[in-house]
Amino acid sequence: MNHRTALITGASRGIGRACALALAATGCRVALAARSREKLEEVAEEIRRTGGEAFAVEIDLSRPESIAAGITKTAREFGRIDILVNNAGITKDALAVRMKQADWEIVLDTNLSGPFFAIQQVLPAMMRERWGRIINISSVVAEMGNPGQANYVAAKAGLIGLTKSLAQEVGSRNITVNAVAPGFIETDMTHGLTPELKQAMIERTPLRRAGKAEEVASAVRFLASDEAGFITGHVLDVNGGMYM
Ligand code: NAP
Repeated sequence: MNHRTALITGASRGIGRACALALAATGCRVALAARSREKLEEVAEEIRRTGGEAFAVEIDLSRPESIAAGITKTAREFGRIDILVNNAGITKDALAVRMKQADWEIVLDTNLSGPFFAIQQVLPAMMRERWGRIINISSVVAEMGNPGQANYVAAKAGLIGLTKSLAQEVGSRNITVNAVAPGFIETDMTHGLTPELKQAMIERTPLRRAGKAEEVASAVRFLASDEAGFITGHVLDVNGGMYM
């Protein structure tokens, strides 16, 4: 058992769930956040069955007051939060010329403003403790651009800027801030893509396959560890070589 606590957003499925399992396996106590409590409880139960400690907390990342309430609850449960994994994210794809204002706003609110407000909530305690890990899940498209995803790409590229600025602000307090940029990963988010689009993504990937959520979680686990203590402001690509 290590003594760290971690809050993972979007932990009810996909990459967030894999991150929660991976961190719990290192002995971290994990708080699992998302909108659907039922799914979170299933993941929490899975972690408890293997001897881990997990706490499910409903948070809607698109609502700052929900973030504040959820993080206050988590801090009360765990005493403090040492590791924040900003993983929750959504897509609302459309070509820019046809994109609805509501779809621009909800993606920016959920994928960029939500992580920022979560960071604001956890930072004061991390600064007092003189130890912290913030890991923002960006995307390969933040580095490459992607037609039909102007909102999502702007948010994910914004997360990289946020990562680098914050790394410079809080480094002196022994808090590291990094981003992980996954490529094409098999999850619910990519499940609905057409077979042609999936094939096209695989052909653009030198390793010639989709990635697994667990492969992204391994990178997150490393960045959250003491071993990664001298890495900050970095964007770690987990993309099978799609962008290099
Ligand atoms: P996913 O399977 O669709 O899971 C998304 C998670 O986010 C769910 O737990 C969902 O739970 C939660 N979520 C969505 N909206 C939320 C909100 N407003 N408030 C709180 N939680 C919310 O997605 P994934 O593929 O695992 O992706 C995880 C992250 O990796 C995302 O940021 C995504 O952009 C990024 N990423 C994914 C890929 C890929 O190929 N899959 C590639 C690059 C980057 P609820 O719906 O219950 O809230």
